[in-house]
Amino acid sequence: MNGAKHISQEDLALYSMQALTPEEQTEVRDHLQGCAACKAALRDILAEDALLGLSVEQQALPAGAQQRFMAHIANTPQETTLGRSAKAEPAVVSAGRKPGSGLGWLGWVTAFAAIAVAVYFGYESQQLKQQLGKDQSDIAQLSAQADRAQELTDALTSPAAKQVTLTETKQPAQPVGHATYLPSKGALIFVASNLHPVKPEKTYELWLIPANGKAPIPAGLFRPDATGSASVVLPQLPEGVEAKAFGVTIEDAQGSNTPTLPIVMAGS
Ligand SMILES: [Zn+2]
Repeated sequence: MNGAKHISQEDLALYSMQALTPEEQTEVRDHLQGCAACKAALRDILAEDALLGLSVEQQALPAGAQQRFMAHIANTPQETTLGRSAKAEPAVVSAGRKPGSGLGWLGWVTAFAAIAVAVYFGYESQQLKQQLGKDQSDIAQLSAQADRAQELTDALTSPAAKQVTLTETKQPAQPVGHATYLPSKGALIFVASNLHPVKPEKTYELWLIPANGKAPIPAGLFRPDATGSASVVLPQLPEGVEAKAFGVTIEDAQGSNTPTLPIVMAGS
């Protein structure tokens, strides 16, 4: 391990565990500063150690490195355990503290664990970033759909929206209404045009006539604007009611719970 030669894998492995003597650690560090090849080799060892550290099984060191490591531990003055334990101080703690002997076993394990944790969280963080990116694109998509739905609602209900009813040529325009209904959601959109005006104390009322023969359900009040157009968007309706038909009556301004005949518009 002199300056002229590259550092062996085994010494790099020991260096990564800080298991060399202080002099050797310094020598390796000095060499690494000027040698890209050995730096790359050390990086590989650290990466490999970190990945192995993620698995439960204990990593086996290269044979030579293991021997030298064990020899290094054996050569460590025995006061570490014997002397200190006589003073009733925990041996592990003093081993960790002993100057000049690297990190000792505890430090060795801790160092590996630290690398493993760092790599693991690096990976986790990458995964989270990817997930976050995906969520953001989902949100953007939902938001775009919501914007579209809002535009649709605005277009249907805005006083500025132009309502045009197409009829056969030369036929006078008749009152007409279009209901779009989704029973499972109780969602209804009703748009009408060419409506006759109603007296101020009166209103049009829309009715959902259930397929099960039960009483008509009030589905919203509406009054035509100056052009004879009106709409009812998503009135309060129970979910899951199949509709046989829709009808419109004229009621007192506050509306009614039962339709007052005649039905002025109907469709099924
Ligand atoms: Zn080198």
